[in-house]
Amino acid sequence: MLAKVSCALAVSLLLTAFQPRFGGTRFGEKLIDERPAGIEHVIVIGVDGLSPDGIKKAETPNIDRMVANGAVKWNVRTVLTSASSQNWASMIMGAGPEQHGIINNDWELDKHTLPPIAQEADGRFPTIFSILHKAKPSAEIGAVYHWGGFGRLFQKNAVNYDKHFSTEDSTATDFIQYIKNKKPVLGFVHFDHVDHAGHHDGHGSVLYYQSVTKADSLIGKILAGIKDAGIAEKTLVILWADHGGIGKGHGGATPQEAEIAGVFYGAGVKKGYAIQQQVYTYDLASTIAFALGVEQPYAWIGRPVKPGFNGFNEPKNLWLGEKP
Ligand SMILES: [Zn+2]
Ligand SMILES: [Zn+2]
Repeated sequence: MLAKVSCALAVSLLLTAFQPRFGGTRFGEKLIDERPAGIEHVIVIGVDGLSPDGIKKAETPNIDRMVANGAVKWNVRTVLTSASSQNWASMIMGAGPEQHGIINNDWELDKHTLPPIAQEADGRFPTIFSILHKAKPSAEIGAVYHWGGFGRLFQKNAVNYDKHFSTEDSTATDFIQYIKNKKPVLGFVHFDHVDHAGHHDGHGSVLYYQSVTKADSLIGKILAGIKDAGIAEKTLVILWADHGGIGKGHGGATPQEAEIAGVFYGAGVKKGYAIQQQVYTYDLASTIAFALGVEQPYAWIGRPVKPGFNGFNEPKNLWLGEKP
């Protein structure tokens, strides 16, 4: 009797072990094409200059809801220096300035000192937009941005929709309309007004926190737009930032400037989970590739934030440091 039960248990364990999971095939211990289940759309909301302090201290009911029902990393490390161009580039390029060569805000496609370690025909380092477009040419991809400089960082032939607006409200309105009209596989929106408030009024000021609350209300409208588009159940939403700030600026190497919050919410994401794995700003592109089942180029150094997703654990070699 005992032997029979053990045998049945062994067979059922064996069957379980060989069942396909995560949209890929489980083969022994090796997962092939592993990816989180149920994600057909990824919407990235990038807020320039949004610090973890801003989220924690400002009135942010929508972000709070994303954190409570999603997975969060409060201290994602940016690349240095903690300025905009190199960080927005790293977010979409899965690599740092050493690889993509975008080292400061003076960078232009035809004006820079360090060439990318590998480049596409247009001279740019591969981005999540270009690798997704190459892997899935029919995938709808769009970017709407409040800071024109973001538009110079990615391959124009990789996106179906590419718009720049001068206010946060017009940026949000257009992006929401785009989501409803086209239901993009990858939609990316950039807001600049929180960074403006940081420079004008100072990080930690009342007006800075008000700008964060404004960003939160736009995020609420985007979440509602995703729902209206009928794709909420299969959409992964990611909130990210390029840097924080201190006083009336950023660029330096302090935690206030060089740490941002990463929030994952929606399809495939664990609920109320605090990510332990160390996360770097260039892991954003790798995580989008992972979520959409696209292989990242070897030139990237980012790693997907797998433990934020159902069915995936923290890395086996996770090391959180030692107490002195
Ligand atoms: Zn910035
Ligand atoms: Zn700035």
